[in-house]
Amino acid sequence: MKPAPFGYADPTTVEEALDVLSSEGEGAKVLAGGQSLLPLLSMRLAAPTTLVDINRLPGLDFIEAGRDGVRVGALVRHAALLASVEAAGVQPLLTRATANVAHPAIRNRGTTVGSIVHADPSGEMTSVLALTDGSVTVATPGGPTTIGWREFFVGPLETSVHGPAVVLDAFFPALPARSGTAFAEVARRKGDYAVCGAGVVVTVDDDLRITAARAAYLSVGLVPEVHDLTEAVAGRTVDSADWAAAGALARGLVDPDGDLHASADYRRLLVATLTERTLADAGAEAVRRALEAS
Ligand SMILES: Cc1cc2nc3c(=O)[nH]c(=O)nc-3n(C[C@H](O)[C@H](O)[C@H](O)COP(=O)(O)OP(=O)(O)OC[C@H]3O[C@@H](n4cnc5c(N)ncnc54)[C@H](O)[C@@H]3O)c2cc1C
Repeated sequence: MKPAPFGYADPTTVEEALDVLSSEGEGAKVLAGGQSLLPLLSMRLAAPTTLVDINRLPGLDFIEAGRDGVRVGALVRHAALLASVEAAGVQPLLTRATANVAHPAIRNRGTTVGSIVHADPSGEMTSVLALTDGSVTVATPGGPTTIGWREFFVGPLETSVHGPAVVLDAFFPALPARSGTAFAEVARRKGDYAVCGAGVVVTVDDDLRITAARAAYLSVGLVPEVHDLTEAVAGRTVDSADWAAAGALARGLVDPDGDLHASADYRRLLVATLTERTLADAGAEAVRRALEAS
């Protein structure tokens, strides 16, 4: 199938983009990498009247890795984030999760911010934004505004941003001190959307005892989910922690749907297994980082 006819604008300033979006109204859509939007157009699941191509907007192709976290501009492709040593140093989860996003050809064109705005609960970067307690900066005719992930994701493929708006960047806070992360997912083929995935963060104190364990899941809910699993492992050393208990706790906290790819029960099983494995890896990393810093 071919897309329905649409108009096209390629503004060169954010203000111009907002003007076009305002004048075109509900029918206008922002086009970034096109890796999610164009398939929807081709299948006629979306029929915007105008595409507002943001690829010529200046100043949006940047990765800023600072002490507080990593800010990723709206025109940064998945491949660029994957290759960023600086970003990996500040928030290793970014690289680990991005490696699981689609195939290299899609990663060369698709953007990290586009993936977040697309708000697919099966997308890796939505759950990373959630687990890191991240936010997005949105340009609107009334000026820029910052929206935290909890407020931003309101449903599958739906965010709280309505009306003329361009998301300028996404901010992912840094991995805290004495912490480790891990990410794993199960997909039918490498590069496919995950049947289930988990990203985790474990933190230890100066005595190397666990003080926090949190996990975010993909493909288990309508929006990205973060669960605090600390109670299952708090106060234990990484070697003595009952990671399986944390997996069992997570299994009881999620409420996935079944679909063509997996039953709800299978997804719950994957949540338990992936949680157990990733927490053990993240715990080992937390100890390594704590020892290096002492
Ligand atoms: C075969 C295939 C496999 C894939 N597998 C995966 C996968 O495993 N995991 C995964 O996470 N993704 C996957 N994707 C999707 C891919 O990651 C996309 O790149 C990403 O979801 C969207 O980014 P984009 O830049 O292409 O956005 P686009 O397709 O251009 O836009 C997507 C949506 O976001 C809006 N939008 C984009 N950027 C902005 C912005 N700056 N401001 C306001 N609105 C904006 C658009 O209007 C549109 O509604 C896959 C895609 C394909 C085709």
